[in-house]
Amino acid sequence: MTTRKALPKRLEKTIYQQFGAQCPFCGEQDVSTLQIHHIEPHAVVQEHSAENLLLTCANCHQKIEDRRISARDVHRAKFEAEQGGNVRPKASGTANSNTVTVSGDNHGMVANSISVQTLKTSINVAPMSGTISASYSRRNYAKYLIDRYHDFKRAEVGKGNVRHAVLYKSIEREFGAKWDNLPEERFEALVSYLQRRIDSTRLGKNRKARGQARYSAFDEHQTK
Ligand SMILES: [Zn+2]
Repeated sequence: MTTRKALPKRLEKTIYQQFGAQCPFCGEQDVSTLQIHHIEPHAVVQEHSAENLLLTCANCHQKIEDRRISARDVHRAKFEAEQGGNVRPKASGTANSNTVTVSGDNHGMVANSISVQTLKTSINVAPMSGTISASYSRRNYAKYLIDRYHDFKRAEVGKGNVRHAVLYKSIEREFGAKWDNLPEERFEALVSYLQRRIDSTRLGKNRKARGQARYSAFDEHQTK
């Protein structure tokens, strides 16, 4: 039996901030229903890392489990939150929880009611333009290869023995920066590196020897 470590408070706070304390799918802001979701199941990754965590309401969490919200939508929601793009335009004129209402009768002199509606501001810094993380399709494809590598590795070492940090660290060593912070010009190199890593897993080697596909090409992946 594996024991599951509690999600550190600090990490939980980071995720709430990243998602602007609201569900990225429906805009729910009621904290009693908001939950942290592991994009790759915790049972599989055996760790809590910010890039694998999503904030969602209980309702949408269930939809993710039932696949009524697709993996693609989950990844997009995470991507947008990381970009600081989680500013959901609400239907104009409707009050939301950013509305502060102050009312009082001020001794009957003036019946005052002040309603201040603020635009939600994001504390996240947008990714540097020209980096892989600034391009949805490139980032998505690189992430796909990373996930694919972990799937192949899992087949080799068994569920629970895949340490995700290992690949991320080796990318940093190889390229000198986190994969999503690399300049776009390095995208091709990153892709070949990840494909080589997949091909060098036991499953990758086997499939290659039998002439079987190990991953979709970038163009193919775009049309999925
Ligand atoms: Zn929701």
